[in-house]
Amino acid sequence: MSYRSTDEIVSYHAHVYFDPAASRDKAERLRAGVAERFLVRLGRWHEVLVGPHDSAMFQIAFEVALFSRLVPWLMLNHEGLSILIHPNTVRPRRDHVEDGIWIGTKLKLHPDRLPAVQDPPDEAGEPNTAPRF
Ligand code: ZN
Repeated sequence: MSYRSTDEIVSYHAHVYFDPAASRDKAERLRAGVAERFLVRLGRWHEVLVGPHDSAMFQIAFEVALFSRLVPWLMLNHEGLSILIHPNTVRPRRDHVEDGIWIGTKLKLHPDRLPAVQDPPDEAGEPNTAPRF
């Protein structure tokens, strides 16, 4: 086999899933905690299902260099919510469905709703948080 280089990874997403009726408060706390601590781009609340996702969620887009600080923080503070963390390369379908890691319970995804190839890949984008800690 030939190994893929981690240089392929342009950014990461963390998708934070919640149940609008039962766990939106936990998702709001998590989002506020992230916003106070990390320079990231927080996405909109999606209570209507979008893309490959099968639950309500919001997205955290972040730079590669932030992985080692943000992901452990999510591990310790997810309050039972499911979170998918995946790399962004030119292969969005693989990125989400095969190559991501889960915090909490792994949820269903819809791979057919993602392109196999997207070039250029998604960048982290302009941060919209103002960390205080
Ligand atoms: Zn994503």
